[in-house]
Amino acid sequence: MNAPLIDPFARAITYLRVSVTDRCDFRCVYCMSEQMTFLPKKELLTLEELDRLCTAFVDMGVQKLRITGGEPLVRRDIMTFFQGMSRHLDSGALKELTLTTNGSQLEKYADALYAAGVRRVNISLDTLDETKFAEVTRWGRLPQVLRGIDAAQKAGLRVKLNAVALKGFNEPELPQITRWCAERDLDLTWIEVMPMGEDMGDTQRIGQYWSLKDVRAEYENHYTVTDLPESTGGPARYVRLEETGQKIGFITPLSHNFCESCNRVRVTCTGEIYTCLGQEGSADLRAPLRASSDGDGLLKQAIRAAIGDKPKGHDFDYSRQQVAGKMTRHMSHTGG
Ligand code: SAM
Ligand code: SF4
Repeated sequence: MNAPLIDPFARAITYLRVSVTDRCDFRCVYCMSEQMTFLPKKELLTLEELDRLCTAFVDMGVQKLRITGGEPLVRRDIMTFFQGMSRHLDSGALKELTLTTNGSQLEKYADALYAAGVRRVNISLDTLDETKFAEVTRWGRLPQVLRGIDAAQKAGLRVKLNAVALKGFNEPELPQITRWCAERDLDLTWIEVMPMGEDMGDTQRIGQYWSLKDVRAEYENHYTVTDLPESTGGPARYVRLEETGQKIGFITPLSHNFCESCNRVRVTCTGEIYTCLGQEGSADLRAPLRASSDGDGLLKQAIRAAIGDKPKGHDFDYSRQQVAGKMTRHMSHTGG
């Protein structure tokens, strides 16, 4: 029952990303519409169910757990969940517990996260301009996030910034953002905007698809750029800027095929498992989770069956006029 999870293409599944809520205190234009209808609370996995679910995955060989959302830190009592997961770090079964956050609640929670064994956080930040920040996040306020970053670093957390590359929006800020990260010893990764959700209208107003090939070319105008061989089994590729020694990441789900080394699966806050970010296929884990209250036999069976159906790869493609392989669900649903 606890044998490692190997998919049909011989990829070992060791990395799980779990969305713990669909709610958020921001409304980023590329992620949510302004008027979002959120799920009724009873649809969400409870904190206890999230614990059982993650524990089942850890039993079956998952070594890295990333918590996401929506905004994970707006889920009530979420620290209880993190504290619970720290037992798997203590036992050595889990190698890393981490999260992706917009940073708005870090001032409050950074110390508690560190105490629970979290050592690294990804913080999403697209611009250092207060007005532009309010524009892209609609509800977010930059100073609060900057205080969150300070708190995280003070608590001892290693911080990586994730910036969505938006042509004509944060494009002119690339040198400034890069310098700012160097000064503060923050890692930086650029993400290509993905065609998630039915309506990308506001994203198109604020900025457009900015290919990371072009982002890289922009770096080459200012720095000597060296490719780094390391791979995390995910969509990120890294370069080093020789002049500063900085490592810059590029997440290029659209222009780079990384599927052959994919080691990850995602579970939504309602317990649906998506074995590929770019495919619609999902399976329900909530029913087996709720049905197997003593022991997690049914749950583990359902997880194994889903991994057995993991597709080979995805079909995003911007190269045609029409966005092919476009997904109808939002990132906040699957968890970015
Ligand atoms: N609220 C948290 C945050 O913003 O970090 C975690 C969830 S958010 C959905 C995770 C990541 O997905 C963020 O870095 C966000 O910028 C990214 N994201 C959301 N929608 C996206 C899109 N359409 N294309 C590319 N990245 C997107
Ligand atoms: Fe919220 Fe993160 Fe989506 Fe922005 S990207 S709306 S912070 S879930």
